[in-house]
Amino acid sequence: LAQASTSKPVALYNSDHASQALRRIRIEADLKEAIDQQALNVHFQPQVNVSSKKIVAAEALVRWNHPEMGMISPAEFIPIAEESGMIVALGEVVFVKTLKTLKSLDALGCSVPVSINIGSDHFLMGNFVEWCVNTVEKEQVAIQFVKLELTESALLSSLEDGVRVLDRLREQGFKIALDDFGTGYSSLSYLLELPLDQLKIDKQFVDMLSKDKRSEKLLSHLVGMAHELELQVVVEGVESEFQVAFMEHAEADLIQGYYYYKPLPQDEFIRVLSESTEG
Ligand code: C2E
Ligand code: MG
Ligand code: MG
Ligand code: MG
Repeated sequence: LAQASTSKPVALYNSDHASQALRRIRIEADLKEAIDQQALNVHFQPQVNVSSKKIVAAEALVRWNHPEMGMISPAEFIPIAEESGMIVALGEVVFVKTLKTLKSLDALGCSVPVSINIGSDHFLMGNFVEWCVNTVEKEQVAIQFVKLELTESALLSSLEDGVRVLDRLREQGFKIALDDFGTGYSSLSYLLELPLDQLKIDKQFVDMLSKDKRSEKLLSHLVGMAHELELQVVVEGVESEFQVAFMEHAEADLIQGYYYYKPLPQDEFIRVLSESTEG
């Protein structure tokens, strides 16, 4: 009896799965077109200095407003771009658009470093360093304002190669951030092995703050340890006053989160940035 009541009818054809598969196929096809036609946009999420509360940096985040499907989250289409080999073309579009924004900031006298997310296939392409250097030269942007964000998984697919590429990028003047720290394996030894400038603590870590008292200790010590290694610490996904106060107490360097700003279209970003630097 118990068996009969728990067993669900077996569907050989599940319409939910089918529509998910169709959505994926459509996204893959239309994303290719969006990349080719430069239809992707880049938004900028300000990063705020923990003590001064001023905007001192930003992260570039790709946005896609699909003509029929509306806004599609990068959390959905970036993995598709990575699996279907489009991440390099997408990454190049975002990189160039971000450099153009950096150029506008320079012209307005309010330059701040801007981070660009780099997919692992892009990063591990043979000519990645040369391509970055040439593009920055062509767009006439000061290289120290360009920060590249990589995730652990992007770097770990080939740690030795990864370290070599990071070294060469830093020699050229690029800054390097390790993104999403606290997700994945986050082995502490990678912090010693990887040549980095900045550590970005993931939102998942921040979300634990109110749920588990011990996470406060963990986060404080993580910040302290990163500082010992001369890494700047950015905390991602900060949404509450409590979290802000905690990050002040833990002496993190920068806060990136909805509490201060969501990712903003370029013009709005430039507006809030110039207001923030004026005051
Ligand atoms: P990420 O690089 O870790 O970027 C931070 C994500 O957290 C962004 O989501 C941002 O909008 C979100 N976020 C920031 N503060 C808060 C907060 O307080 N609350 C909440 N709930 N979310 C917050 P987004 O823009 O949807 O991007 C998702 C992911 O997609 C990024 O995570 C990154 O891995 C990837 N991505 C975005 N743009 C690009 C790109 O141009 N190239 C590549 N390769 N990946 C990208
Ligand atoms: Mg990022
Ligand atoms: Mg992140
Ligand atoms: Mg993330």
